[in-house]
Amino acid sequence: MKTKIRIALQKKGRLNEDSMKLFKEAGIKFNVGSGKLVASSPGFPIEVLFLRDDDIPQTVADGVADIGVVGENEMYEKGYEVDIARKLGFGKCRLSLAVPKAQDYPGIEWFNGKKVATSYPNILKKYFDENGVEADIHEIAGSVEIAPGIGLADAIFDIVSSGSTLVANRLREVDVAMYSEAVLIAKKGLEPEKQELLEELIFRINAVQTANSNKYVLLNAPNDKVEEIVKILPGMKSPTVLPLADKNWSSIHSVISEDEFWDVIGKLKANGAEGILIIPIEKMIL
Ligand code: ATP
Ligand code: MG
Repeated sequence: MKTKIRIALQKKGRLNEDSMKLFKEAGIKFNVGSGKLVASSPGFPIEVLFLRDDDIPQTVADGVADIGVVGENEMYEKGYEVDIARKLGFGKCRLSLAVPKAQDYPGIEWFNGKKVATSYPNILKKYFDENGVEADIHEIAGSVEIAPGIGLADAIFDIVSSGSTLVANRLREVDVAMYSEAVLIAKKGLEPEKQELLEELIFRINAVQTANSNKYVLLNAPNDKVEEIVKILPGMKSPTVLPLADKNWSSIHSVISEDEFWDVIGKLKANGAEGILIIPIEKMIL
């Protein structure tokens, strides 16, 4: 029988939707029936297990799944030995210490002797050790943000993204211990056939993510402005310049990255570009 690679994904929660979208764009659609915990994909030898994110690092470390998608926070907390095959760029958050809003906070030494509620006791212990802090770490599974308000702890250590949960609970972020994003993890020492499948997956993920962070640009320019405009548009090699039916004008095609997009568009307009079209790219192979 042909080798299949087995991937563990979050069953539901903040990583599920982005994970499914990424694999779909990479040409891998899972046949998920309602409530099914295992699914396969037509056209790629892969099988998916849907799990709670807490269970993904161990499932991969033990080889029950070969690879998985999980937040770095969860991966470091659990501490299993796995490889990070690729950072995925979604599920971005940070792990921070927060204190009651009105609390004076001189610096991290404030935490000495304090009771801190968290779902990430291992990461917090390590962070306190590195900073010479001795605190009472109180592990709770969920709703960490309410702990100070109900008198269960003096402060918390938890996931923050926008910070609105902290504000709603009258807490103030005072220190960031780590930044996290979703990562594709792999079992150490994968069999060669599975390693090959993993590399094919990474190749596809690269094509999707490079495409998503770039745009195809088409514009018209008077011939005497072409040289200036070509300098603004580097492109993958160099921009394509094509003649238009009107002999005094040319059409210029190129690719620009999302990061420099608005800056470049401003410069193009200022240099006489007209009829600028921006087109999304579906896949991009460099
Ligand atoms: P499960 O039921 O699978 O155990 P969970 O409740 O533990 O789910 P989620 O809230 O779905 O976890 O978050 C999963 C991961 O998504 C977190 O471990 C973190 O890496 C990331 N994450 C959490 N909150 C945010 C956020 N607000 N923005 C972006 N990413 C986040
Ligand atoms: Mg969880």
